[in-house]
Amino acid sequence: MKKLLILDRDGVINQPPVVPHRYILTIQDLILNRHIVEIIIKAQSDNWLVCCVTNQQAIGKNILTYQGISAIHNYVNENIVESGGRPLHFFVCPHLQSDLCFCRKPKPGLIFQALEAYGLNKEMDKVIFVGDQETDKLSAEFAGVMYHPFSNSLNYSDIIRKHS
Ligand SMILES: [Mg+2]
Ligand SMILES: [Zn+2]
Repeated sequence: MKKLLILDRDGVINQPPVVPHRYILTIQDLILNRHIVEIIIKAQSDNWLVCCVTNQQAIGKNILTYQGISAIHNYVNENIVESGGRPLHFFVCPHLQSDLCFCRKPKPGLIFQALEAYGLNKEMDKVIFVGDQETDKLSAEFAGVMYHPFSNSLNYSDIIRKHS
C-alpha cells in the first residue's frame, strides 16, 4: 500500500523567513532544517512517498517568479539527493489570499492535488501531513488526512509510531 508523507515548506523543510510576513525569494534566504532532511530520507527508505505543499503568495504579488521558486526547490532537492534521498515534488499555491482559490491553505486543495498525483484518493488512511501553522492543521482536517505538528525535536519514529 502506498504511504504519503506531506510536508509544509516554510517552518518545516526550511526555517521560516527571518522577518515575519516576508518571503524567501532566493536560495540565500533559505536555511534548511537538517533534521527534516534526515526524516525525509528515513521515510523514503521505509517506502513512504514524500512531497511538499506550500502557499507562496509572493508569486501572486509578482515579487517571485516561477523560475525563482524552481531554483529554490531545486536547491532543496539537491541537498536531499546529496544526503542520499530522492527529490520531492512541490505543490505550490501561487495565489493571493484575496483570490479565494481552493488551493491556498487552510483550504485543502493542495493536499487533494498531492493525493491525485499519487493516486491515493481512496487510501487516505496512509497520508500524514506535517506542518507548523494552524492553517496546515485545518487543511489536513478539511482534506481528511492525519496531521502531525512540526517541532525542532521531531523525529521519524515519532511521526510514524503515532499514526501506525
Ligand atoms: Mg509553515
Ligand atoms: Zn491557490
